[in-house]
Amino acid sequence: MLVVGDARDASAIAALSQLAEEASNCTRCRLSAHRTNVVFGMGNPAADLMFVGEGPGEQEDRQGLPFVGRSGQLLDRLIWEEMGLTRANCYITNTIKSRPPGNRDPLPDEIEACWPYLEKQLELIDPRVVVTLGNFATKLLLGTTEGISRLRGRVYPYRSGHLVPTFHPSAALRGGGQVVAQMRADLVRAKEALVTPRPMNEAAFKGRV
Ligand code: URA
Repeated sequence: MLVVGDARDASAIAALSQLAEEASNCTRCRLSAHRTNVVFGMGNPAADLMFVGEGPGEQEDRQGLPFVGRSGQLLDRLIWEEMGLTRANCYITNTIKSRPPGNRDPLPDEIEACWPYLEKQLELIDPRVVVTLGNFATKLLLGTTEGISRLRGRVYPYRSGHLVPTFHPSAALRGGGQVVAQMRADLVRAKEALVTPRPMNEAAFKGRV
C-alpha cells in the first residue's frame, strides 16, 4: 500500500486554513462579482500528491469544492483505478479559485491575480508530485506556451518534486477512449514519481515556482 502524506508542520496546515479564509473574501479580480463560492481546494494538506485543474465550473461554484461535477467523477475514477488512491489521499485545487461566467476560459490577468494563492498552496503543501490537468495549469506551472498534447507523456522536475502534465478530464469526456488511455498512462507516471527521489537540482528548473 502506497502511503501518501507524512507529518507536515502543524503551522503549515494552520497557514493553509488561514489562506483559505483570506481567499474566501478575495476581490483581486472581476470574477469575485459573479461567483457564489470561492473554490479554494480540498483534500489532505499533508498529501504528497496534488492535482491542479483549470477553474471551478457550475457545480463547483455552487458547492465550494473542486471537481465535484462530471469531470471530477471521471478524475476520481481514474485516480482510484490507476493509482489506488482517493481524494482523501491527495490535495485538489485549481489555477483560479472563482468560476468564470458561462465557464469561459480564464483570462491572463485573472490567472495572474490568483497565482499568489496557488503559489502559497504549493509552498505549504510541498507535494512530491503535482499533476496538472489541462493547458492552463500546465502552461502556468511549467512556464511555457507549449500545448498539453506536446507536454504530456513525461515527468518534469518541479520545485522540490516532480510535475506530471495530463489532459483535463473534460477533454477526456469529449475525446473518448484515446484521451482516457493517455490520462491513465500519465497517472501511472505520477504513481511512479511518488516513489522517485525528489530531484537534486531544483535550480535547473525554469518554470513558475
Ligand atoms: N474543471 C476544473 O478545472 N476544475 C474544477 O474544479 C472543475 C472542473
